[in-house]
Amino acid sequence: VVDLGMPTRSVITTCAYCGVGCSFKAEMRGDELVRMVPYKDGGANEGHSCVKGRFAFGYASHPDRVMKPLMREKITDQWREVEWEEAIGFVGRRMREIQDQYGVGAIGGITSSRCTDEEVYVVQKMVRAAFGNNNVDTCARVCHSPTGYGLSQTFGTSAGTQDFKSVAKSDVIVVIGANPTDGHPVFASRMKRRLREGAKLVVIDPRRIDLVRSPHVEASYHLQLAPGTNVAVVNAFAHVVVTEGLVDSDFVAERCEGYEQWAEFIARPEHSPEAVEEITGVPASELREAARLYATGGNGAIYYGLGVTEHSQGSTMVMGMANLAMATGNIGRDGVGINPLRGQNNVQGSCDMGSFPHEFPGYRHVSDDTVRGVYETLWGRALEAEPGLRIPNMFDAAVDGSFKALFVQGEDIAQSDPNTKHVTAALKSLDLLVVQDLFINETAKLAHVLLPGTSFLEKDGTFINAERRINRVRPIMAPRTGKHEWEIVCEIAQAMGYPMTYDHSSEIMDEIAITTPTFSGVSFKMLDEKGSVQWPCNANAPQGTPIMHVDGFVRGKGRFVETDYIPTSERSTRRFPLILTTGRILSQYNVGAQTRRTANVAWHPEDLLELHPHDAEVRGIKDGDEVALASRVGETHLHARIDDRMPVGVVYTTFHHPVTGANVVTTDNSDWATNCPEYKVTAVQVRLKKAA
Ligand code: SF4
Repeated sequence: VVDLGMPTRSVITTCAYCGVGCSFKAEMRGDELVRMVPYKDGGANEGHSCVKGRFAFGYASHPDRVMKPLMREKITDQWREVEWEEAIGFVGRRMREIQDQYGVGAIGGITSSRCTDEEVYVVQKMVRAAFGNNNVDTCARVCHSPTGYGLSQTFGTSAGTQDFKSVAKSDVIVVIGANPTDGHPVFASRMKRRLREGAKLVVIDPRRIDLVRSPHVEASYHLQLAPGTNVAVVNAFAHVVVTEGLVDSDFVAERCEGYEQWAEFIARPEHSPEAVEEITGVPASELREAARLYATGGNGAIYYGLGVTEHSQGSTMVMGMANLAMATGNIGRDGVGINPLRGQNNVQGSCDMGSFPHEFPGYRHVSDDTVRGVYETLWGRALEAEPGLRIPNMFDAAVDGSFKALFVQGEDIAQSDPNTKHVTAALKSLDLLVVQDLFINETAKLAHVLLPGTSFLEKDGTFINAERRINRVRPIMAPRTGKHEWEIVCEIAQAMGYPMTYDHSSEIMDEIAITTPTFSGVSFKMLDEKGSVQWPCNANAPQGTPIMHVDGFVRGKGRFVETDYIPTSERSTRRFPLILTTGRILSQYNVGAQTRRTANVAWHPEDLLELHPHDAEVRGIKDGDEVALASRVGETHLHARIDDRMPVGVVYTTFHHPVTGANVVTTDNSDWATNCPEYKVTAVQVRLKKAA
């Protein structure tokens, strides 16, 4: 950290990394950011922070940042710096030409969970109103789309049920497929505080994460299940609850529907802990005891991450957890609930803002005539009633030749999406790839036009964290590129002949409030007065809603859904005998585009492959050796770390560095309902490449 002397001014803003959404005081001296100080009145963090939010802001002024629009020369294939007018005019013209040649549906857009709500909203508006189709999707497709589907089916809306504070009232905390210490550090501290006070902990994860045993915290149960068997485990929990008479009958009778049929299903012997022991690898006695603890130990709260959603049965698992919470009455009050720990700062917001091909903002289906009518009147355009393409559909259609142009907002899909070879082939097939980003990342390297984006220090808008908290993001400087990201999107729409203008991003939030019932009470003015608010915020809940489903579920009655366990098709074979699963590390963030350009990289300069000592020994691999990691779709090389956190037969890596590129080997298997990729289960082989 460079000492720039005493600050002369400060601005309260929000961290641009994880879904905790910590508030910070950004302290400036002149135009230089001196330091980020955790803000004591921040609703999500109450004065705490982690190493990313505190120290990893240097990327905003990194020399790699692109400051002028770039267009690729056809003949030399080199970038050429151009003025905004030329770049935007070209994009608008080519988009229209491609539609004239290949049809209205030949173009689409992808939004980013790292952008503000206002920036995301205008992209989905551009796609629906200017492109004239619903080919808009968000990077949440590859992380929490099963949360959206599963919670909508059971509870009626796609959101975590609790505020972060609620964990202080939990008696039993179940953490499934999440590693809060690394992924959501500030919330993990809150959780650990409660555990040190005596709450019980159950961890369901193939990897022995830090939470299992950390200072003064020890899990009562660590159910070290085989990757891909979540649904069998949650069904076994529910089986114990139903067959041992642990159901909260009053809650179920008053608040839910479909119980009788579901109870008959879940009571079947194939869901018993004894029956699933062989599938999951978890001893039946531990499954039974952990289920009893959750059902009878007082307030039971479930917190989960991508280890739940990034599976071929991700949506089924979300519904399985919802079933379990309803059956035990663990919904609708402090200390309980179903809580997705969102990875990126604005996953919740990017979903709320309607960047799905089937939903307008506020999770309302595009086929709903009344809702569509509201937007048609306001936007002055007839809108498409059929859902558009999801991201994987766009890739497939690009390879097939029917999808020809893509606008990508702040998302490095070439590094983050599975099966890199297929994604790269799709992007190379496009007639026009437009990327709006800070850096020439792996996706931008394939783009025809690069439109420079802004860092969070230049943004004026809102992020929504994992507890539905709408936080203000305030600029400490004007856009260094000369344009706000929402302005770029509006100008592309205008270059295509669709009038779309705002004087300020607050006007975009005003439009969101007019059209989206759960946001009707929200404005920049109100947020500046209150600090932050949790949606729904409207006439029924003017102060916001810290806890959902208190008196009734959003859909009326909570709905039990039968959740059959179906094994993934991705299994170990003679050729690929190990199972790879992936995750994050504390000091880095996702594909590392930001954190790799800060001092944080010193803590984690490369992705490593964790192997159990037994799996290493039989392959002659020692700590630090270079190994080849191969699956049926690709091969990459990394250094080995011998560690018994993983069970025998399972290996683990992170995905923060493009050189090692874990997604070279992940496949395009995906969740049956949402196409969320099955990053967490890939059959692989590991070979010694070069001894250390
Ligand atoms: Fe808070 Fe997450 Fe930012 Fe860390 S990365 S400061 S936990 S919002």
